[in-house]
Amino acid sequence: MAPDKHPHILIIYTGGTIGMIENPETGSLQPFDFSHLIDNVPKIKMLDYVIDNIQFDPPIDSSNMNPDHWKQIARAIEENYDRYDGFVVLHGTDTMAYTASALSFMLRYLDKPVIITGSQLPIGEVRTDGEENLITALQIAAMTTETGEPMVQEVAILFENYLWRGNRSTKMSADNFNAFKSNNYPPLARIGLGIHFNREALWRTPVRRHLKVCYELDPAVMVVDLHPGLEPSTLEYLLAAPGIKGVVLKTYGAGNGPTAPWFCDTLRRAVERGTVIVNVSQCVNGAVHPKLYASGRSVEKAGVVSGHDLTTEAALTKLMHLLGLGHGPAEVAARIGRDLCGEITLKAPST
Ligand code: ASP
Repeated sequence: MAPDKHPHILIIYTGGTIGMIENPETGSLQPFDFSHLIDNVPKIKMLDYVIDNIQFDPPIDSSNMNPDHWKQIARAIEENYDRYDGFVVLHGTDTMAYTASALSFMLRYLDKPVIITGSQLPIGEVRTDGEENLITALQIAAMTTETGEPMVQEVAILFENYLWRGNRSTKMSADNFNAFKSNNYPPLARIGLGIHFNREALWRTPVRRHLKVCYELDPAVMVVDLHPGLEPSTLEYLLAAPGIKGVVLKTYGAGNGPTAPWFCDTLRRAVERGTVIVNVSQCVNGAVHPKLYASGRSVEKAGVVSGHDLTTEAALTKLMHLLGLGHGPAEVAARIGRDLCGEITLKAPST
C-alpha cells in the first residue's frame, strides 16, 4: 500500500492495563489516555514506520467491552483499510479473546494484519511487558513475505513470546506475562531473539475480495456451564431466559452431560423452541466427540450441536455473528460446525 515504502500502521487504543495509571485515592488502576501511553515508549521512533492512532473516548477497562465496541473497532479498520498496511489494537486482557474472536467473524475477506495486544503491567511501570508487546505487535503488523504481501492476514493476539490466532485464543493467566494460549492450535509465531513464523499455520482467506465488515451481531446469546448438582429448575430457568436464541453449553470432557431424562428433556424443549445450543468442552484442550460416551450421545440426541474444538469465546461470538446475519436456528446450527476463518478444526474427510 505505502508508496514511500515506510510501513503505515494504525494503532486503535481501546484501553486496558497497558495504558492505565493508579488512582491515588483508591490505589486501583484505571484507563488513561493514549498520549501518556505513547510517551512511555520513546523507542517507537526507532521503527521507521508511519504510525497514526485512534483512541476510544474514554478508553475502557475491557471488562466493559460489548458488541458496540467491536463495531467501533471494525469501523475504524474499515474506514482506514486502504490507507494502512496493518492495524494494532491495544486492548485489556480480560476480554481480549472475545474481541479477537468477534472481529475475526466480522472482518470478512481480511487480508491485512489486525494484531491485538495489551499488557499485564501498565506501560508506566518499570517492569512493564507493555513496551515489548507494543513494539513487537507493530513489527508483526508491518512484516511482509518475500512477495511483498502481509505476513499475517488475520486477527491475531500478540502476547509476550507468542502470536496466536485470535479466534483460537483464551486468557490463561491473570499474572503471567505469557497470558494467552490457543490450546487447540499451534502458535502463529514464536517471539524470542527473532520473530519465527509458523508459515503453515497462518490463515489465508480462500476468497480474495475487498474487506467486507459484517456489523450485525445478535447479543441474544449466553454461556451455561454444567456442574454436578445443577438443579433441573435452574437449567430450565436459564434456557427459558427471555429472548435467548443461542446458548454455549460447556459440558464435561469430550462433550458429556448427565444422562438423566430431566437433563436431556430440558435441552430438547429449548431446542424445539428454536434455541441453538452449542456443545463445547470445559477442558481447554481437546474437542467434543459426542459419540464417544453414552453421556455425550444423549446430549447430541437432545438436538445440541457439536462445537467440536471451538473455544467458548469463539462459539459465543460465532453464534452472535450467525444469528446477526439473520439465519434461522437450523441454518445457524448447520453453520456452527463449518470453518469460517480458521476457528475450528475440521476433521479430514474420510477416504
Ligand atoms: N482489567 C484489565 C482489562 O481487561 C486487565 C488487563 O488489561 O490486563 O482492561
